[in-house]
Amino acid sequence: MADFTMEKGADGVAVITWDLPGKSMNVLTMQGAQELSDLIDDALADDAVKGVVITSGKDTMAGGMDLNVLQGMKQQGAEGVFEGVMTLHHLLRKIERAGMDPKTNKGGKPIAAAVPGTAMGIGLELPLACHRIFVADNPKAKLGLPEIQVGIFPGAGGTTRLVRKLGVMMAAPFLLQAKMSDPTAAKKAGIVDEVLADPVAAAKEWVLSGPAIVKPWDEKGYKMPGGAPYHPAGFQTFVGANAMINAETWGAFPAAKALLSAVYEGAQVPFDTALKIEARWFTSVIMNPSSGAMIRSLFLNKEALEKGANRPEAPDQRVKKLGVMGAGMMGAGIALVSAQAGMEVVLIDQKQEAADKGKAYTESYFDKGIKRGKATEEKKAEVLGRITATTDYDALKGCDLIIEAVFEDPGVKAEVTKNVEAVVGEDCIYASNTSTLPISDLAKASKRPEQFIGIHFFSPVEKMLLVEIIKGKETGSRAVAKALDYVRQIRKTPIVVNDARFFYANRCIIPYINEGVRMVGEGVEPALVDNAARMLGFPVGPLQLNDETSIDLGVKIAKATKAALGNAYDGGAADDVLFWLYDAGRLGRKSNAGYYDYDEKGKRLGIFEGIREKFGTRDTEQPEVDEVQDRLMFSQVLEAVRALEEGVLEDIREGDVGAILGWGFAPWSGGPFSWLDIIGADEAVKRCDRLTEKFGARFEAPKLLREMAEKGQTFYGRFGEQAKAA
Ligand code: NAD
Repeated sequence: MADFTMEKGADGVAVITWDLPGKSMNVLTMQGAQELSDLIDDALADDAVKGVVITSGKDTMAGGMDLNVLQGMKQQGAEGVFEGVMTLHHLLRKIERAGMDPKTNKGGKPIAAAVPGTAMGIGLELPLACHRIFVADNPKAKLGLPEIQVGIFPGAGGTTRLVRKLGVMMAAPFLLQAKMSDPTAAKKAGIVDEVLADPVAAAKEWVLSGPAIVKPWDEKGYKMPGGAPYHPAGFQTFVGANAMINAETWGAFPAAKALLSAVYEGAQVPFDTALKIEARWFTSVIMNPSSGAMIRSLFLNKEALEKGANRPEAPDQRVKKLGVMGAGMMGAGIALVSAQAGMEVVLIDQKQEAADKGKAYTESYFDKGIKRGKATEEKKAEVLGRITATTDYDALKGCDLIIEAVFEDPGVKAEVTKNVEAVVGEDCIYASNTSTLPISDLAKASKRPEQFIGIHFFSPVEKMLLVEIIKGKETGSRAVAKALDYVRQIRKTPIVVNDARFFYANRCIIPYINEGVRMVGEGVEPALVDNAARMLGFPVGPLQLNDETSIDLGVKIAKATKAALGNAYDGGAADDVLFWLYDAGRLGRKSNAGYYDYDEKGKRLGIFEGIREKFGTRDTEQPEVDEVQDRLMFSQVLEAVRALEEGVLEDIREGDVGAILGWGFAPWSGGPFSWLDIIGADEAVKRCDRLTEKFGARFEAPKLLREMAEKGQTFYGRFGEQAKAA
């Protein structure tokens, strides 16, 4: 069965329908591209055909390119990628020129796109090559070019066409930030032409009306909206766009740079040459290991984990009634996202006031949304109607999942566990949101430790995409399935790890922060520390992160770690800085003072000068930025490797996806294991040896990494199959 079929109507309109057999959404394959090309040839050659409408047989246009196609092209090397991309350019250019005389622009047949719903990537690039775009009036439809999010950029003419259609400045948010629009917004932005109930009928009528079809960029004297690079206005645009990209990416994302180069160079030459330039930059991005790693982690593996790649066999465990214990910062957020997902929520605190305050969080969340036009009063009332805020444990009757988020105190938690189990049914699964207490220890308070599990959220709950599920020693498979089904209901990404100190995410984040703080204690300029991290692609440096998570929490963790590890504890220069700030009452953002100064409104200003004075950073010879970056990187990735070695992590996909979503680990790298694969185990061990010699045993290469270096292995080579089978 074909992906594209054509029906020639008696009215002279040939309707080409894209309808991938057996799939709920269209994706473009090379076979599909060939079919479409043949149909266009046929329609253009047939005198009975006056015009063409390209539409979809599904309720959406398409989700994008089939990623296997890119993979296939890549296997043939850079030349294969370039040629594959040029094949698509030729096809879309054929549609755009539609048989017109190249010299006079005369002749040709109108070709319109009739888009029934969501159109992403090539699903929008194909309409952009048509002469007019008609879209169904469906507010749920998403139109956009999401490529940059997985480390590539729109490479089937989307970049070149959108820039020529809208101008660089107006196209920038769609290309560089993957901004998605509903049909009305897309029309307002000038991306599509008409939004109406029946796009196919309207498109047919339009092609029969004898419309002008030459694209502006194929006309003589075409000028890019906003000006090309050497136009006075365009010059400023490019200066601005360059600055904007560098401010956002700190030069760490190869795709963003390549995209801007394609736009800049393409703007100075005729359209067909610009497409070749786009193809060349696209090829360089595809051949860069970053794009493969990003696609693997942020697209393929993220989706696989969301769909339950590591879910044990168990009947449907979707949650109907959820009990949330503790209506503080975390409990309030958990209640919000769960009620939004349609669950009935009982939110319990010690005092009615506290419970009400937790529920009020949902109210203020919706009030903000309503102000910005993103929510409605009806939706707010509906969601609030699902939350019962109370102190009465009896309200928990009938709950099938409990998530406890009371104070981080084992005694308080044990008490709550016992009291809850006295009222809920035997089947109820009990989860703790603890960030530091071992799940196996907390489970001792439970009558049913096989039904006891960790569901660890990140703050703020409604924004953070990752949820870490922790299996205690006795946790059974139904509890794991329950936690996974719940996370799926609230549309977040789960990773499942085994119980160990700080689980997975915090285990890696804490050494990252500590290494940054330690450097300051050694006299390294604080701005160098945070900027080195930004240049690696981290959204915030370790010092800023410590200000956000708070200095007192850092002190608490340092004390607890010292108590747990005894003589093996190596607080060193990091503790000097941390305790000094703590004693000075500089607790981070919450006290408007930390490593950074803040104004009275909480806006972050510069580094606190007192740190420089106290730790003599001005008098200390400063290290190379590479060395600072290696210390920051290895402090995290070695923990990830140790977590794998010790069996805390069972699947490297979870280690990579969890790191990017949990703490913003350099997304361009695809995660810690992908990063190690990019530099190679051998190189990693060499750098560890250098760091160990200079800075101490915490950088010693784990046995596993050394062994992989000796055998010339990669993580995805060695653990990839196992991960797939899991
Ligand atoms: P919080 O202090 O804001 O809230 C705790 C709430 O629990 C308070 O409202 C308190 O009144 C209530 N509470 C205490 N004892 C209770 C009892 N016996 N019965 C009912 N309610 C009781 O704390 P938080 O930041 O929301 O943290 C809660 C839990 O989540 C902790 O275990 C913490 O480690 C964990 N956690 C916190 C974060 C974070 O960033 N804050 C992130 C992940 C996990």
